[in-house]
Amino acid sequence: MNILVIGLGFVGLTAALGFADKGFNVTGYDIDDRRAALIRSGRVPFVEPGLEPALGRTLGISLKISDSVRQETEAADLIFFCVGTPNKGDGSVDLRYLFSAIDSVIDVASPDCVFVIKSTVPPGTTADAVTPYVREKGFTGAVAVNPEFLREGHCWNDFMAPDRTVCGCGGKDARAISLLTKLYEPFNAPLHFVTPDTAEFIKYLSNSLLAALISFSNEMSLIAEAVCSADIAKAFKVLHQDKRLVGAGINHYIYPGCGYGGSCLPKDTIALSAESKQLGFEPRILDGVISLNNEMPLRTAEKIQRLAGSREAHIGVLGLSFKPNSDDVRDSPTAKIIECLIDNGYSKIYAYDPFAAEAFRNMYGHAITYCKSKEEVCEACDTIAVVTIWQEFQGIHLKYPQKNWCDCRYWLED
Ligand code: NAD
Repeated sequence: MNILVIGLGFVGLTAALGFADKGFNVTGYDIDDRRAALIRSGRVPFVEPGLEPALGRTLGISLKISDSVRQETEAADLIFFCVGTPNKGDGSVDLRYLFSAIDSVIDVASPDCVFVIKSTVPPGTTADAVTPYVREKGFTGAVAVNPEFLREGHCWNDFMAPDRTVCGCGGKDARAISLLTKLYEPFNAPLHFVTPDTAEFIKYLSNSLLAALISFSNEMSLIAEAVCSADIAKAFKVLHQDKRLVGAGINHYIYPGCGYGGSCLPKDTIALSAESKQLGFEPRILDGVISLNNEMPLRTAEKIQRLAGSREAHIGVLGLSFKPNSDDVRDSPTAKIIECLIDNGYSKIYAYDPFAAEAFRNMYGHAITYCKSKEEVCEACDTIAVVTIWQEFQGIHLKYPQKNWCDCRYWLED
């Protein structure tokens, strides 16, 4: 079976490596020549444990990184589209990268080829937009949806040991069903064939639940701060001992912090809400989840400011990526917290992250000082906020007990 993966970001590169590691014949393509060249040289363009060894095992054996997508298309049995699906200004999803990727192969793909949308797309997209589009362009093969549930920081393990695999295919797409069954058989996870709408909805259902758990936890922490002097971290840890939660693996999301970020939860919740409103249903809980999340960086910045006092204070920020073990800074709560601090007149901000400083500087360009170590931040500042829970920050407050610590993740005392 020949597989072509278009878009080699977190999802596409992981999928290409995962399929290749299982012995399938995989070609990866990315429109970003520099990214493709880097991968071709055996390096992974972002921090993600497990991917580089997999690249070493597969490159030149079962995996090839091509510089021409058209050249690879004719022989492909399955083409996975793994390009970004960001929000437009009104919150709805911008499908331009997906359609452009489809355009790049549509006139070369064999009618036996199956197009598989792995990008996250709103419910209804495949049936109402993608399929009519490809038919109009003369492609007669099947179009399936295969949402991805991996978590950044755990991409490899999540992909190789999925808890479930969801494929959305038309009931009569026998070839799609047979190819996808064969492809996912070695992954040994429950394989669900559902309609494309259901597959797309399952992905948003999952991300909306995770976002709701986080916002619920954040709201509870704000209520606690307003009404009593409860030990918030302790309260949540005791909650986690409820036997209905023990072993569920979800407690990480049932915990307060400074808001969810990253490339998925913010954009997907906003997109689902926008789609729902556009089609006539006004979501209340989902909008509450989003609105509280938007507020969290501001509230966190206020906490830091209360500790710092004067606008002349030197404020340290530990952690720039949106989560540990990743250098992804897209929609990172740290960026918004720093923005609030700067807007409120705090200009002496010192930041450190083990891996994400360069990506952060490139994406945001805030006028802050980037330090080479957490110690450098601690030496320079009296007030220090721990925003991302990188393991190396654990216990740092004990080394500098005289500083004002803002534990934005309720984590330092773990
Ligand atoms: P990404 O931004 O890391 O990667 C997308 C890649 O696609 C980029 O390398 C880009 O250069 C490439 N690309 C864009 N247009 C192209 C084209 N026409 N031809 C070839 N390559 C092209 O994105 P990602 O984080 O991997 O996410 C991809 C999709 O998967 C999104 O829809 C996202 O919502 C979804 N998703 C992401 C995650 C995650 O944790 N990152 C998890 C599940 C689902």
